[in-house]
Amino acid sequence: MTEDRTVTYEDPHWGTATQGIRAGWQPGEEREHTCPIYATSSFVFKNAAEAAARFSGEEQGNLYSRFTNPTVQAFERRLAAMEGGEACVATASGMAAILATCLSLLKCGDHIVTSRTLFGSTISLFDNYLKPLGIEVTYVDPTDLDAWRSGCTDTTRMIFVETPSNPLTELADITALAAIAAEIDAFLVVDNCFCTPVLQKPLALGAHVVIHSATKYLDGQGRCIGGAVIGDADTVGEKVFGFIRTAGPCMSPFNAWVLLKALETLELRMKAHCSSAQKLAEWLVQQPAVEHVYYPGLPDHPQHALATDQQNGFGGIVSFDVKGGRAAAWKVVDATQMLSITANLGDARTTITHPATTTHGRISAEARQLAGIGDGLLRVSVGLENIEDIIADLARGLE
Ligand SMILES: *Cc1c(COP(=O)(O)O)cnc(C)c1O
Repeated sequence: MTEDRTVTYEDPHWGTATQGIRAGWQPGEEREHTCPIYATSSFVFKNAAEAAARFSGEEQGNLYSRFTNPTVQAFERRLAAMEGGEACVATASGMAAILATCLSLLKCGDHIVTSRTLFGSTISLFDNYLKPLGIEVTYVDPTDLDAWRSGCTDTTRMIFVETPSNPLTELADITALAAIAAEIDAFLVVDNCFCTPVLQKPLALGAHVVIHSATKYLDGQGRCIGGAVIGDADTVGEKVFGFIRTAGPCMSPFNAWVLLKALETLELRMKAHCSSAQKLAEWLVQQPAVEHVYYPGLPDHPQHALATDQQNGFGGIVSFDVKGGRAAAWKVVDATQMLSITANLGDARTTITHPATTTHGRISAEARQLAGIGDGLLRVSVGLENIEDIIADLARGLE
């Protein structure tokens, strides 16, 4: 008797951890227990008729790994299930995901309204590469809904947001932005890098497209660069996929395999990041050398209530101002022995950054001040080491 054990884990009644482990792939003829790496550039056909049917699209199937690859598709299907989207397209990097989304959904004369606290390379992509193509961009305060509303014009086709923001953990209200986008018939695109689908599901809140830098928490172990776009079958499955397939910033099967494994531990890791970040934030608040702590899990964070509603946890990024400006901040950085001094985030290893002289070092002092990035600000991406060790490493420079 053969028992049919085929289950589809795309159904939203499955939990995110279960989907991260089981969605998107089933064992093949060899009955292997984990998805193999299909290290092949192209695929062969039984005969001329099959080749013709595949190329014409009459018959589904693999042709060439710039278009589809089974390992990459397993990652795409798994992440789509976790975000609750119909389609996912994997990309070479997070930036390639943003580029592909903009170039496939926008044309010359269209307008983007976005938050002024975006990831640095995203601002650079918009200002240096999209603006010269005739795509206008307006930057607004992510927490100010009136600013989002008045930023929109009759050519606005995309509202693009990253929430919570980096490094100050300001939140944008996704449900409210979805309502604004619906009024003007624009796409709402959410870069969900900081929360991952474990902590926030933008599509369920009304967003049209979710973007990931898989390089950060999705991998979470600093091993590879990757990205993804998730949304409905037409917007992402046709339009964004069409761009990737033609222009070529696709994901390699090896990176897809690494990321597929990483999704299996994503929920476990995100819960641990959140728990340690909360403990660190609460400890920092008690330190006399610390002036202010930015973490949505603190009751006095200006958007603590929104974070409680919109997110399933407060995330792994904690920022704080130390008294004494740059000298005091650098002293904290230099006194660490374990924390990695790097601008990267979302890793199992805790990282520490001084934004004013690194990630935000190239913008003017006035612009930095306007953005709230003081000289004493430090950002910690809380990793998975024991929290006591993370606290002890920071305590040294704060005494
Ligand atoms: C890192 C990052 C990106 C870009 O991702 P890459 O994989 O480095 O290309 C985009 N958005 C956010 C919020 C990021 O942190």
